Amino acid sequence: GSETLETVLKTLEDKFGHTDFKSTLQKDAVLAVVQGSGDVFVSMPTGSGKSLCYQLPAVIKERCVAIVVSPLLALITDQIEHLLKRKIVAETINSKMLVEDKRRVCNDLKTKCPNTQLLYITPEQAATSTFQEILAHLHKHKQISYFVVDEAHCVSQWGHDFRPDYLKLGKLREKYMDIPCIALTATATAQVEKDIYEQLSLKSPVARFKTSCFRSNLFYDIAFQNTSADPETDLSLYASEWLGDDWDTQPLKTRPCGIIYCRTRESTGTLAEILTKKGIHTKAYHAGLKDRERAEVQDEWMTGKIPVITATISFGMGVDKASVRFVAHWCMPQSVAGYYQESGRAGRDGQPSGCRIFYSRKERNAVEFLLKQDVSKKTKKGAKYEKQAKQMMKSYEAMVRYCEIPQCRHAIFSSYFGDSPPDCQKKCDFCLDPKATEDKTQAYFSSDVG
Ligand code: ADP
Ligand code: MG
Ligand code: ZN
Repeated sequence: GSETLETVLKTLEDKFGHTDFKSTLQKDAVLAVVQGSGDVFVSMPTGSGKSLCYQLPAVIKERCVAIVVSPLLALITDQIEHLLKRKIVAETINSKMLVEDKRRVCNDLKTKCPNTQLLYITPEQAATSTFQEILAHLHKHKQISYFVVDEAHCVSQWGHDFRPDYLKLGKLREKYMDIPCIALTATATAQVEKDIYEQLSLKSPVARFKTSCFRSNLFYDIAFQNTSADPETDLSLYASEWLGDDWDTQPLKTRPCGIIYCRTRESTGTLAEILTKKGIHTKAYHAGLKDRERAEVQDEWMTGKIPVITATISFGMGVDKASVRFVAHWCMPQSVAGYYQESGRAGRDGQPSGCRIFYSRKERNAVEFLLKQDVSKKTKKGAKYEKQAKQMMKSYEAMVRYCEIPQCRHAIFSSYFGDSPPDCQKKCDFCLDPKATEDKTQAYFSSDVG
């Protein structure tokens, strides 16, 4: 009720120093953890304030300890330091700490009313007998507020950083089904989410708080190179459409700019040359350049001196530029997840932006060839690698379907990430004009194979 919201807001300000929530989703997740007795799943991007979703409720819930599992000691130390500064009692038990510190923490946890509000542990620690004893003791005295599993995607073999030790958390959780479990992650495809629910035995109904993957300011479409007389000119027109005529009169920092992804180093060079000749100043960026050159190109683009960069996918990690007006793929993305991430570098400022794949049969075949090679190599290495390679093949096939089946492009992302279908509102070629999209796709299939 409103009383809870009041308490929550007061704690937010008094203890965490924030005047408001970062988002409605953060607020709703906090309230669910505070009020609810059930399991909670939180999936929000990095930096959106997931920690608060369990830290704030832990502070409110007195006389109880929240058990927080986090993958790395470095992360744990960092969090604890941060909390201690705010006079929130957070502790850890781990194999690297001094015996006397460990004794101090254990003793506190065995008192009638522990000072500790949050107890951070690694998944390795969770499996130790020391910890099991503490847990049993706390449980017996009804002093556990909830289990928190941060970076919960680590339980999934399909996640980026699978940690076998995370699998043991399932057993731990099953022993204490009466304690609510809160799982948090930044990466949640439908597959990873399903794994998290299964591995941590989350009890339905799970209260689910997930940022929608729908980016309503991005217009997605496909152009088929095979049915064009001059694909490079198409690309240059696409670029100039998004850049506008007056891009170089705008303030450097917010000048419109674009990224064109290519598969090979050679094609970044060739395309950059062609585009520059056509009047769009473009530079190539790839791992083959000398460090200094590469840094220079990136810097010129970041600061708005050159509008367009042609790059291999090594470009963009950690690049956070707000005014990217378009992301074009001159090549075939390897997976829906990869494409979502790469194209998602467009429109960070919320302004209308474009994401287009310049699809070509040649590129499609090249990627397929490389992937098949990879599959056969990995198959020889053993079952585990084979499974991984097959998953890559499946991701790729999903990407082919994205390009070759006329349907809402945003809806494909939503289904991949387990969201309900978005209200696209003509933010993709198919929803804008289904007939034209079907026609151009058909024309591609009828075009010469060569
Ligand atoms: P995540 O785990 O989702 O990557 P964090 O929990 O580490 O994100 O939080 C990211 C940053 O956001 C931190 O610096 C945190 O202090 C800040 N933050 C969290 N909630 C709020 C809020 N309500 N108002 C302002 N800043 C916040
Ligand atoms: Mg986090
Ligand atoms: Zn659509």
